[in-house]
Amino acid sequence: MSDVEVTTPQVGAPDHRMRWAQAAPFLLVNFTPLLVFLTGVTTKALILGIVLYVARAFGITAGYHRYFAHRTYKMSRVPQFLMALLGASAVQKGPLWWAANHRAHHRYTDTERDPHSPAHGFFWSHMGWIVSDRFDATDYDAIPDFAKYPELVWLNKRDWVAPWALGALCFLIAGWSGLVVGFFCSTVALWHATFAVNSVAHLWGRRHFATGDTSRNNPIVALLTLGEGWHNNHHHYPRSVRQGFRWYEIDISYGLLRVLSWLRVAKDLQQPPAAALTASRIRDGHPDLGMLRYRLGRAARKLRGTRASEELTMLLENTAQQAAAIARRGRVTAAVDEA
Ligand SMILES: [Zn+2]
Ligand SMILES: [Zn+2]
Repeated sequence: MSDVEVTTPQVGAPDHRMRWAQAAPFLLVNFTPLLVFLTGVTTKALILGIVLYVARAFGITAGYHRYFAHRTYKMSRVPQFLMALLGASAVQKGPLWWAANHRAHHRYTDTERDPHSPAHGFFWSHMGWIVSDRFDATDYDAIPDFAKYPELVWLNKRDWVAPWALGALCFLIAGWSGLVVGFFCSTVALWHATFAVNSVAHLWGRRHFATGDTSRNNPIVALLTLGEGWHNNHHHYPRSVRQGFRWYEIDISYGLLRVLSWLRVAKDLQQPPAAALTASRIRDGHPDLGMLRYRLGRAARKLRGTRASEELTMLLENTAQQAAAIARRGRVTAAVDEA
């Protein structure tokens, strides 16, 4: 589990350069859905695409995110590997790479060490951080709890195996339309739904909890990502297996994990303690320092080099410390309730 460590956002200029040429294969795949005009759409291919979207969204949200990044439930070694394999088939690199980067996102949210903070603009948080090569390597030190399994390291290093095998299978099942609609269209759609959690769900939506970051609850992103759009809930209490906290916050991945727990495949599903559900609520008057910090950071960047920027940076440091204190208080309250 990664704890929140709120550090002061730096106003200096980090490396946000795009490696367009190096990222060409990734960028080109984004246009493969256009091939549908050549192959057409068969019913078989369409069903295949929908099934693969939902199944792989589950692999990413329940597997890569809630299991590998946050350990919100337990599995034995074989289902653990199968979940990693399902996630890997979504072409979002290996499980250890994904989860290690995501742990950094929670630990350093909205600072320079956050891989995809929206403080650097929508595009950076959506896919710019992938086009840049800054976060290409897997930080195995950030994920020792899973890096100890050789089969997961093997899969992480050969992250192309599952996607190529699945692509070939789609072609065998439903021909060229199967490859384009079944595999590529569902892959690209799931990419952007997943990316939207990092971009859209940090920019648009309601904030229920005064977290030290910019996370939002966005129902459309939640629907497209089987529940991950309740992102403000998630940043408030990342140890929870469910991200929809209220009855109307539909969380399909959690529902499917409940089914896996009845089948005894997933165990020890972690629920948010009652105290966490009422701690740091904005409607109870908790100051929203996460948003204040974000706006101060943007202003300081715009005024870089001026006297006003120095003053803003000092204010920013102060706000970041207070936001950290709020995050800590939320954790303590939750821990007391758990005990
Ligand atoms: Zn986030
Ligand atoms: Zn998370």
